[in-house]
Amino acid sequence: MASLSQILGQIYTMAMLFFSVLLLELAILVRGAACASARCSITTDQFLKIVDKKAPSGRYSAAGTSGFPAAECSVCLSPFEEGDEVRKLKCKHTFHKGCVDTWLQQDSATCPLCRRPVLPVDVVVKHRNHQLRESYDGGDEEITIMLYALHGSIYTIYTS
Ligand SMILES: [Zn+2]
Ligand SMILES: [Zn+2]
Repeated sequence: MASLSQILGQIYTMAMLFFSVLLLELAILVRGAACASARCSITTDQFLKIVDKKAPSGRYSAAGTSGFPAAECSVCLSPFEEGDEVRKLKCKHTFHKGCVDTWLQQDSATCPLCRRPVLPVDVVVKHRNHQLRESYDGGDEEITIMLYALHGSIYTIYTS
């Protein structure tokens, strides 16, 4: 036979646990709603399509230079080879397409050499939002595991 104080103690613990679960679930809801609409974020695919529009890529050709006169890529520091896929920015600086695309996604989308902006600020911000949302999704997994653990302990208290 459990005494009254034991029962009261159990009720108190359960109430506290339910309250923490409620708070956590609320936190997830608020975070999900912060930037859930497509209006304030763009995917990496959309981002790279805009990069393509602003700075079209082409094949490097040493002969005749075909508009790509640079000898080496300043991101990876290796010389351009015939037929390499390169991207020439508005500032006339040229890089490997892969190198500069990765750079633009990590940096604030400016030329690696002269720091001139390559993309409009709103495009950069929207893509940054998308990246933040992706890292939030990873964080939610941890909270979900915590929620399962909390629900589990409530169940244990209830059945013991
Ligand atoms: Zn490169
Ligand atoms: Zn430049």
